[in-house]
Amino acid sequence: MINRLLGLSGRSASRTSDEEGETPAVRLGSVTHEYGATGARFGSGRERTVTALDDVSLEVQSGETVGLQGPSGSGKSTVLHAVAGLLVPTDGSIELLESDLSALSARARTRVRRRHVGIVFQRFHLLPSLSARANVALPLVQEGVPTSTRRERATALLEEVGLGDRATHLPSELSGGERQRVALARALAGDPDVLVADEPTGELDTDTGANVLELLTSVGRDRAVLVASHDDDTLSVADRVVTLRDGRVIDDGR
Ligand code: ADP
Ligand code: MG
Repeated sequence: MINRLLGLSGRSASRTSDEEGETPAVRLGSVTHEYGATGARFGSGRERTVTALDDVSLEVQSGETVGLQGPSGSGKSTVLHAVAGLLVPTDGSIELLESDLSALSARARTRVRRRHVGIVFQRFHLLPSLSARANVALPLVQEGVPTSTRRERATALLEEVGLGDRATHLPSELSGGERQRVALARALAGDPDVLVADEPTGELDTDTGANVLELLTSVGRDRAVLVASHDDDTLSVADRVVTLRDGRVIDDGR
């Protein structure tokens, strides 16, 4: 409702085409990524390249939660960064709600990310000097949403993740689980169609992690959710688990 008022309703538009056409919200087609190769992030200028992804194809539908598992270094974070448009793979295509991310300019890719993707990291990445509410509202500042609406939306989101009474607390005044819930609320600020979570419970104890996961699934609802983990508990909330090894999909969970 607030979203509709704010013109942040990209999600409902895509939902319609999804219901009709069954186009996946996220589609990776034969994605290969080499770090250090020309055009890749962190090109070092040295001869050494690392093949992080090798011919990865994978789809996530709206309303589906897909788990990504595999040992450290198998390419999970690289997949999530590519889906979020934070890196452009050296080869292959990434379609997000039918736009081909690799065909977009950096600026257009950023716009797609802000409008359609929510990201949750292992280490929360909250700004320490801002209250929980200000952290949640931050993405809306970039969208040019007026202050009073930002406050209202951030307050509603904090309530949704069970932190209505912590709005004015600084991150340092919150527990790990609470910080991750703030990060989740922030990821939802733009009402994203796609939610990516990179080891969201990696820093949390088992019970707290389970709590955050339950929440992730419930706020996931009709979004496409991609969650990376090497933890069985995390993967148990997924509808399907894709297994990566050395940058290749060795099991797509179907
Ligand atoms: P995972 O998240 O499964 O641990 P990553 O996607 O982080 O795996 O890494 C996949 C491979 O790419 C690893 O070999 C890793 O060392 C390498 N890698 C990741 N990020 C970079 C980077 N910025 N520069 C060079 N190599 C990287
Ligand atoms: Mg990783």
